[in-house]
Amino acid sequence: MKKFKGISTSPGIAIGRIFLYLDEKLKVPRYDILPDDLEAEFDRFKEASSRATEEIKALQKNASERELVEESQFLESHILMLSDPEFLSSIERNLKSYLKNVEWILYLTVKQVVKKLESADSPYLRERTVDIHDVAKRVLSHLMFNERVSLSDLKNDVIIVCHDLLPSDTIGMKRERVKGIAMNAGGKTSHTAILARAFQIPAVLGLSDITDYARSAERIIVDGDNGVVILDPDKKTLAEYNEHLNEWHRHEKVINLQNKLACVTEDGKRINLYANIEVPEEVESVIEHHADGVGLYRSEFLFLQADGDATEEKQFNAYSHVLKSMKGKGSVTIRTLDVGGDKLIPDISVIGEKNPILGWRSVRFCMGRKDIFKTQLRALLRASVSGNLRIMFPMISGSDELDDILDVLEEVKKDLDKENVPFDRTIPVGIMIEVPSAAVTSDLLSKKVDFFSIGTNDLIQYTIAVDRGNEKVAYLYEPFHPAVLRMIKMVIDNANDAGIPVSLCGELAGEPKAAAVLLGLGLENYSMSSNSLPEIKKIIRSITMKEARKLSETVLGMDSAKEINRTITEWMEGKFGK
Ligand code: PEP
Ligand code: MG
Repeated sequence: MKKFKGISTSPGIAIGRIFLYLDEKLKVPRYDILPDDLEAEFDRFKEASSRATEEIKALQKNASERELVEESQFLESHILMLSDPEFLSSIERNLKSYLKNVEWILYLTVKQVVKKLESADSPYLRERTVDIHDVAKRVLSHLMFNERVSLSDLKNDVIIVCHDLLPSDTIGMKRERVKGIAMNAGGKTSHTAILARAFQIPAVLGLSDITDYARSAERIIVDGDNGVVILDPDKKTLAEYNEHLNEWHRHEKVINLQNKLACVTEDGKRINLYANIEVPEEVESVIEHHADGVGLYRSEFLFLQADGDATEEKQFNAYSHVLKSMKGKGSVTIRTLDVGGDKLIPDISVIGEKNPILGWRSVRFCMGRKDIFKTQLRALLRASVSGNLRIMFPMISGSDELDDILDVLEEVKKDLDKENVPFDRTIPVGIMIEVPSAAVTSDLLSKKVDFFSIGTNDLIQYTIAVDRGNEKVAYLYEPFHPAVLRMIKMVIDNANDAGIPVSLCGELAGEPKAAAVLLGLGLENYSMSSNSLPEIKKIIRSITMKEARKLSETVLGMDSAKEINRTITEWMEGKFGK
């Protein structure tokens, strides 16, 4: 049994079998074996090698059928490498002398072969190093995984253990099969985290090196509430966790009783609770939770699902579906494409930017690709006749940028008018406040738009200069940093002065510890993943505005995030018990 501590990211407990998901950064596991295990280890290698050979033969057959002579010859050389007696005896020899698992031995042997080839006089031999790596990777993948299945094709219930997941992996995976996620990389507001919460999959991220220890198909526990992952749990731990799991289901039932209650503070102030969604199917959960509307629909996931080919029709259908489903139940705020940063979309994203988080992302990308942007705006405007739509632009950094974007929106409206295509002429247009320059100039920006939504995930990242997805700096990612709290307050005050509504749709909105402080700062509109709604409602219903204001005034006077955290924890314990 081995226990790991990471970042609790998506609540709930999952007990199941490991599915080690291969990606480029996955490290080769290294552990000791006993002399008695030597034969079994070598057999594992032979088995993996023969599976890899079958796979290459199939590729070769395909290449010859298509008369790809050169490719077929390369593949032939890969088959020869795998059956080379010298290579096989090096593996056997290294196994005996190092007494380590065969994945590691393969890695080591390949390193030795490559070293030899690199010093060869013949350029042909030197070029063969690429082939060696290719072949080794193929065998390794068979050694480390029972089956080479993609996440969209999972046949059994699994718990994914991996270095990192791309948003495209997460959006494309067979969700009903994924019972939990444990990942080396990632932080609380990384997009994998957001999707895990949206799909209600317990997840622990930021585990650094769990892939070095996890073995395919072994039992694992993911405790998303406490950020704990246990590999190969003993019987006692397993029994304890099964009990926690039962308790968790009981708690879920009780907390969901909140769904039908109104969100009013103890002294009668009505607060609006909206839901964030990433895919149109989530709208069912929004309705089940009786949210006041959709506060943030992250449209980029539609582009991800469509592999970059999100046509106007596809978008129109998705937006119309959400709007129709929510008709009479609340407004739907759809955010325009927020691609880039850690949300790369194959086919349309720029890969390899030096500073993607500060680079060509979001509205900056859209203004550079007006074809994509205008298509989305057309789809949105056309869909607006189906319900109560609000359009929101992300990553706004200042007034000039906003003016240019609003001009494009006007152009698209004119085009639709020319074509006699109907749309709602009163659609509110708003912006996300998630870049510090926008927060600081929110008094100016408030004159140009109908609403604000504070995106704390990015606002924290940019204010503290800390990558929200990097586990190594996750300790600095602090929502209660005084600078962040001041900025939130500044934006709320400026919106109030301008008489426009302001909501907060970053993960902080669904954080129980933040609920009272945000209320005290004047927040009246929260937007969060649906399953966080009942807990936040329960807290808001148990406090008065006076209490909330007092708490926020106290913490605004503090200079240390640690002290603020401690103060809020004590306040919550005093109010709700431990
Ligand atoms: C945010 O930045 O707070 C936000 C809601 O947007 P996203 O998490 O999609 O970047
Ligand atoms: Mg953001």
